[in-house]
Formats: sequence, C-alpha cells, structure tokens
Amino acid sequence: MKDVKRIAVLGVTGSIGQQASDIIKNHPERYRATVLAAGRRVDGLIRAALELRPRLAVIADPVLLPRLREALAPEGIECAAGSEALAECVVADDVDMVLTATVGYSGLAPTVAAIKAGKDIALANKETLVVAGDLITRLLADSPSRIYPVDSEHSAIAQCLAGEDIATVRRLIVTASGGPFRTWTKDRIAGVKAADALKHPNWSMGAKITIDSATMMNKAFELIEARHLFGIAPERIEAVVHPQSIVHSMVEFDDGAIKAQLGVPDMHLPIAYALGEHSRLGGSARSLSLAEMASLTFELPDAERFPCFGLAHRCMERGGNTACVVNAANEIAVAAFLEDRIGFYDIYDTIADAIARAGFTAEPDYDDFVASNSEARAIASDYVNSINH
Ligand code: MG
Repeated sequence: MKDVKRIAVLGVTGSIGQQASDIIKNHPERYRATVLAAGRRVDGLIRAALELRPRLAVIADPVLLPRLREALAPEGIECAAGSEALAECVVADDVDMVLTATVGYSGLAPTVAAIKAGKDIALANKETLVVAGDLITRLLADSPSRIYPVDSEHSAIAQCLAGEDIATVRRLIVTASGGPFRTWTKDRIAGVKAADALKHPNWSMGAKITIDSATMMNKAFELIEARHLFGIAPERIEAVVHPQSIVHSMVEFDDGAIKAQLGVPDMHLPIAYALGEHSRLGGSARSLSLAEMASLTFELPDAERFPCFGLAHRCMERGGNTACVVNAANEIAVAAFLEDRIGFYDIYDTIADAIARAGFTAEPDYDDFVASNSEARAIASDYVNSINH
C-alpha cells in the first residue's frame, strides 16, 4: 500500500460521498481525492472540489460542463463531462481506489472499467452486484482488484469474517431496520405517499435508497449482494428485522457460534473500514452505550406486507438477468412513486410485470445486461404509465 492512497469518489454529492469526503479531508496522511464525480448536482461538486482539491472533476450531465469549468478551471482543476469521461476517470494512473457511491444502474460501467484496470473498489453502489454479480465475480478472478463493501451490513459481515475460514460459515444473517412501515397493516401501507416513506427511523440516506428501505427492496438487494461478495449459497443467506439498527449483521459458523458487529448507526465507520481495506480508523464513530439501549429485538421479515423482499431469493434461484430486470423496473417504479404518480404496492406490481414480460438470458455478458436494462426500463415505463392513479 502506498503512503497516501489516491481515491476517485464517484457520487461525491450524495450521502455516502459527503461522509467519505469528511474522512478524506480529516486524514490527509492517509487519503487524497484525485478525482471527484457527480451526476447532476454541479454546485455540490464544485463545493467538494474546492475543498478536496482533486486533479479532475467530472459531471455526468454534459450540459453542466461550462458551469463546472467556469468555477474550477481558474483553480487549476481539470473538468470533464459525460458517461465516457466517468468510465475513463477511474482508470487514471493517479487513482488507487474507486469509491462507487452513485445510485442505480449507472454504477455498473465505471465499476467494470475500474476492475479491468486493476483498481480496488470501495463499493457503495449496491446495484452493481445486484445487476451483474456473476459478471463482476468473473472479472475479479482475472484482476488484482479487490472489492471492499461500504454498505453497513456487508461491512459487518466482513468484520465478522475477519480471521475466519469461509468454509466454516453456516449462515449469513443480514439485519434490516424494517423501515418506517414495519408495524403497519397492509391496508394502511397501501395508502402511503412518498413523503411518508422518506421518513426513515434510523438512517439518513438518499431518496432512492430510503424508498427501497420502505419496500424492503433494499434488503432483497443486500441479500443478493452478500451472495456475490462472500460466495455463499442463497439458502445460507437470510434477513432478520432488527428495528434498533445496532447489530449491523451477523455470521453463524458451523460450531453454532454467531458473531455480530454492533455500533451506533453511522456510515463513517463502514466507509472508513472499506477505504482502509478492512483496517480500522480510530474515531470513525462515537461509542455505543449498551446500558442506554433498552433492548435489542429481532423478528422475521414479512414478505406478505413487503413483497419486494421476497424477490431476493426469486432472483437468486432464477439467476441470469433476473436481478437486472428487477433493478431496472424498480428504478422506474421508485422514480414514479417519488413523484406520487403510482402507489406503494404498484412498485412491486411494476417489477412483477417486468419479470413476466422481459426476455430471460441464462448467462448474460456485459452487452446482454445493457440490453436487458433498457428493455426492462421500457416495459416498466409502459406499466407505470398505464396506472391510473
Ligand atoms: Mg444497508
């Protein structure tokens, strides 16, 4: 490892990107941001660039390039725009690790490019492994790259697995907060609006992942992600609802021992653990006072009220491009729900319809995923537009 690790932060204006920026800024002896990228939030990108002084700032939307240049060129910071620039910036010589903190399918192309170039990945974009986990696993087998998960659950599992033999794992137990509607009846959930779903009890996150938490699609994605990250068979991966979000996940071993990682819900810790290649950074999060915790409770997830949760094992059993279709349809449905164009359970119905109608490919390559993503988006858009809400 080099003395100062040079990092490309994709999605620097989002919740994870901003918290990663804190860590990089507070630890110049360890980290330097050489590339910063954002989707459309050009002002946030400018602010981050003026603070972190990268070599290059990239905005995905080319329309915003003149504005970016105007602010950063006088500061001697290079500027670029567009999806090609995004894929190119991660393979630069002055990048040792890529933090993929973008939302959605868009995280796939730069991750693939970074792995092909042998860069390490701090993976916060869960859709990458959900959409194309088998492809990423194959690419990693031929590359010196390693993936370090940023998601709190997968970071917890990685921490529990430290020093253990993966062959002794009996189960991965992924914890779920249950979201804001955990105790609600199905009828009541059916009437919720985006504003209700955006009030997450424990974590402050972006809008898309907050809705995914409310539907439990997020947990389904995390089970799929765990399968690819740790190479554990689907039947050995399960979720348990733990509303306090203190136990971040657990691993059971074949002697019956269960290891858990606990801590206050603060993403600085898993981000720092990933940037440090599974080493600890002192002071990442405050102490957890166990005496102040009244109780830690656990219950089974309810796929009846949260049907999106049930899609996890369906995706893993059917395989191929199924999870790619589910992800694409979910992105369309969540965007429509956020605009109050469809209801809560229409999100699941949109996805189920896309699974039924999209073409199935058993062993997709990269181009198949691109095609499948486009097809599923078109099918889901049709479905969403057909809903009279
Ligand atoms: Mg998570």
